Amino acid sequence: MPPQTPTPTDHRRWLRLTLDLAREAQQAGSAPVGAVLVDASGHEVARGRNRVGEAQTPEHVGKASVAHAEMDLYFSAGSLDNPETLTLYTSLEPCLMCGGASALLGVGRVVWVTDDPWGGSGRLIRWSDHPAMQDTEVIPTPDPELEREGARLFAPEARRAFPDEGWQLWRQRYPRETEGL
Ligand SMILES: [Zn+2]
Repeated sequence: MPPQTPTPTDHRRWLRLTLDLAREAQQAGSAPVGAVLVDASGHEVARGRNRVGEAQTPEHVGKASVAHAEMDLYFSAGSLDNPETLTLYTSLEPCLMCGGASALLGVGRVVWVTDDPWGGSGRLIRWSDHPAMQDTEVIPTPDPELEREGARLFAPEARRAFPDEGWQLWRQRYPRETEGL
Protein backbone atom coordinates (compact mmCIF):
# COMPACT_ATOMS: atom_id res chain seq x y z
CA MET A 1 0.00 0.00 0.00
CA PRO A 2 1.47 3.41 -0.92
CA PRO A 3 2.26 5.87 1.86
CA GLN A 4 -0.32 8.38 3.03
CA THR A 5 -1.10 11.01 0.41
CA PRO A 6 1.11 14.09 0.80
CA THR A 7 -0.29 17.57 0.24
CA PRO A 8 0.80 19.71 -2.73
CA THR A 9 2.91 21.71 -0.24
CA ASP A 10 4.74 18.51 0.80
CA HIS A 11 5.41 17.67 -2.83
CA ARG A 12 6.67 21.16 -3.53
CA ARG A 13 9.11 21.13 -0.63
CA TRP A 14 10.77 17.88 -1.71
CA LEU A 15 10.65 18.61 -5.42
CA ARG A 16 12.44 21.90 -4.75
CA LEU A 17 15.15 19.99 -2.89
CA THR A 18 15.65 17.67 -5.89
CA LEU A 19 16.20 20.75 -8.07
CA ASP A 20 18.77 22.08 -5.56
CA LEU A 21 20.58 18.73 -5.71
CA ALA A 22 20.39 18.84 -9.51
CA ARG A 23 22.14 22.22 -9.49
CA GLU A 24 24.77 20.85 -7.11
CA ALA A 25 25.42 18.00 -9.58
CA GLN A 26 25.72 20.46 -12.44
CA GLN A 27 28.22 22.58 -10.50
CA ALA A 28 30.27 19.44 -9.81
CA GLY A 29 30.45 18.64 -13.53
CA SER A 30 27.71 16.01 -13.69
CA ALA A 31 24.24 16.02 -15.26
CA PRO A 32 21.66 18.17 -13.42
CA VAL A 33 19.49 15.53 -11.74
CA GLY A 34 18.72 15.13 -8.03
CA ALA A 35 16.64 12.72 -5.93
CA VAL A 36 15.34 12.41 -2.35
CA LEU A 37 13.75 9.47 -0.54
CA VAL A 38 11.16 10.44 2.09
CA ASP A 39 9.39 8.29 4.70
CA ALA A 40 5.69 8.28 5.57
CA SER A 41 6.23 10.82 8.40
CA GLY A 42 7.79 13.27 5.96
CA HIS A 43 11.41 12.71 7.03
CA GLU A 44 14.29 12.42 4.61
CA VAL A 45 15.71 8.88 4.40
CA ALA A 46 18.41 9.50 1.78
CA ARG A 47 19.37 11.88 -0.98
CA GLY A 48 21.35 11.49 -4.17
CA ARG A 49 22.45 13.29 -7.26
CA ASN A 50 23.90 12.50 -10.64
CA ARG A 51 27.67 11.83 -10.55
CA VAL A 52 28.45 10.73 -14.12
CA GLY A 53 31.03 13.49 -14.59
CA GLU A 54 32.85 12.94 -11.31
CA ALA A 55 35.49 10.52 -10.05
CA GLN A 56 34.58 7.28 -8.36
CA THR A 57 35.02 7.48 -4.56
CA PRO A 58 34.64 4.93 -1.73
CA GLU A 59 31.31 6.60 -0.88
CA HIS A 60 29.84 7.13 -4.33
CA VAL A 61 29.73 5.48 -7.72
CA GLY A 62 31.04 8.01 -10.19
CA LYS A 63 32.56 8.35 -13.66
CA ALA A 64 30.06 5.82 -15.02
CA SER A 65 26.97 6.25 -17.14
CA VAL A 66 24.98 4.37 -14.46
CA ALA A 67 25.84 6.96 -11.77
CA HIS A 68 22.32 8.39 -11.88
CA ALA A 69 20.83 10.35 -8.98
CA GLU A 70 18.43 7.58 -7.96
CA MET A 71 21.17 4.90 -7.98
CA ASP A 72 23.38 7.21 -5.89
CA LEU A 73 20.48 7.54 -3.44
CA TYR A 74 19.68 3.81 -3.31
CA PHE A 75 23.31 2.82 -2.81
CA SER A 76 23.71 5.27 0.07
CA ALA A 77 20.37 4.25 1.63
CA GLY A 78 21.33 0.56 1.79
CA SER A 79 18.57 -1.86 2.76
CA LEU A 80 15.19 -0.15 3.14
CA ASP A 81 12.73 -0.74 5.96
CA ASN A 82 9.12 -0.86 4.77
CA PRO A 83 9.94 0.43 1.27
CA GLU A 84 6.22 0.51 0.40
CA THR A 85 5.86 3.45 2.81
CA LEU A 86 8.58 5.49 1.06
CA THR A 87 8.30 8.17 -1.61
CA LEU A 88 11.03 8.75 -4.18
CA TYR A 89 11.18 12.34 -5.44
CA THR A 90 13.31 13.09 -8.49
CA SER A 91 13.95 16.21 -10.56
CA LEU A 92 13.55 14.22 -13.79
CA GLU A 93 11.40 11.27 -14.83
CA PRO A 94 13.44 8.14 -13.96
CA CYS A 95 15.01 6.11 -16.76
CA LEU A 96 14.36 2.37 -17.15
CA MET A 97 17.31 1.52 -14.89
CA CYS A 98 16.20 3.79 -12.05
CA GLY A 99 12.50 3.07 -12.51
CA GLY A 100 13.39 -0.64 -12.51
CA ALA A 101 15.47 -0.24 -9.34
CA SER A 102 12.54 1.54 -7.66
CA ALA A 103 10.22 -1.31 -8.66
CA LEU A 104 12.72 -3.95 -7.51
CA LEU A 105 12.99 -2.24 -4.12
CA GLY A 106 9.22 -1.91 -3.86
CA VAL A 107 9.17 1.85 -3.28
CA GLY A 108 5.58 2.96 -2.63
CA ARG A 109 5.46 6.16 -4.62
CA VAL A 110 7.52 7.89 -7.31
CA VAL A 111 7.09 11.63 -8.00
CA TRP A 112 9.08 13.70 -10.48
CA VAL A 113 9.42 17.39 -11.33
CA THR A 114 9.87 17.25 -15.11
CA ASP A 115 9.13 14.64 -17.77
CA ASP A 116 12.01 13.24 -19.79
CA PRO A 117 10.40 12.52 -23.17
CA TRP A 118 13.55 10.79 -24.44
CA GLY A 119 15.35 9.15 -21.49
CA GLY A 120 12.36 8.59 -19.20
CA SER A 121 10.79 5.18 -18.75
CA GLY A 122 7.47 6.48 -20.05
CA ARG A 123 8.66 6.58 -23.66
CA LEU A 124 9.36 2.84 -23.63
CA ILE A 125 6.85 1.39 -21.22
CA ARG A 126 3.82 2.84 -19.52
CA TRP A 127 4.67 2.95 -15.83
CA SER A 128 1.30 1.39 -15.03
CA ASP A 129 2.06 -1.57 -17.36
CA HIS A 130 5.26 -2.54 -15.57
CA PRO A 131 4.47 -5.79 -13.73
CA ALA A 132 6.66 -4.78 -10.77
CA MET A 133 5.10 -1.31 -10.54
CA GLN A 134 1.53 -2.38 -9.82
CA ASP A 135 1.78 -1.38 -6.17
CA THR A 136 3.68 1.83 -6.83
CA GLU A 137 1.84 5.12 -7.11
CA VAL A 138 3.36 7.24 -9.89
CA ILE A 139 2.86 11.02 -9.86
CA PRO A 140 4.40 12.83 -12.83
CA THR A 141 4.93 16.62 -12.77
CA PRO A 142 2.50 17.69 -10.00
CA ASP A 143 3.74 21.30 -9.92
CA PRO A 144 3.62 23.19 -13.27
CA GLU A 145 5.88 26.03 -12.11
CA LEU A 146 8.61 23.69 -10.87
CA GLU A 147 8.14 21.54 -13.97
CA ARG A 148 9.08 24.49 -16.18
CA GLU A 149 12.05 25.30 -13.93
CA GLY A 150 13.22 21.68 -14.13
CA ALA A 151 12.82 21.60 -17.90
CA ARG A 152 14.92 24.76 -18.27
CA LEU A 153 17.56 23.30 -15.96
CA PHE A 154 17.89 19.99 -17.83
CA ALA A 155 17.32 21.22 -21.42
CA PRO A 156 21.00 22.08 -22.16
CA GLU A 157 21.99 18.56 -21.03
CA ALA A 158 19.27 17.05 -23.24
CA ARG A 159 20.63 19.10 -26.15
CA ARG A 160 24.19 17.96 -25.45
CA ALA A 161 23.72 14.33 -24.48
CA PHE A 162 20.74 13.06 -26.47
CA PRO A 163 20.69 12.14 -30.17
CA ASP A 164 18.81 14.53 -32.44
CA GLU A 165 15.70 12.36 -32.22
CA GLY A 166 15.76 12.73 -28.45
CA TRP A 167 16.29 16.47 -28.63
CA GLN A 168 13.34 16.80 -31.02
CA LEU A 169 11.14 15.04 -28.44
CA TRP A 170 12.32 17.53 -25.83
CA ARG A 171 11.54 20.44 -28.14
CA GLN A 172 8.03 19.11 -28.74
CA ARG A 173 7.37 18.44 -25.06
CA TYR A 174 8.90 21.69 -23.74
CA PRO A 175 8.91 24.18 -26.66
CA ARG A 176 9.34 27.29 -24.50
CA GLU A 177 11.96 25.86 -22.17
CA THR A 178 14.13 24.59 -25.05
CA GLU A 179 13.84 27.76 -27.14
CA GLY A 180 17.15 29.17 -28.34
CA LEU A 181 19.25 26.15 -27.39
ZN1 LIG B 1 18.35 6.69 -14.29
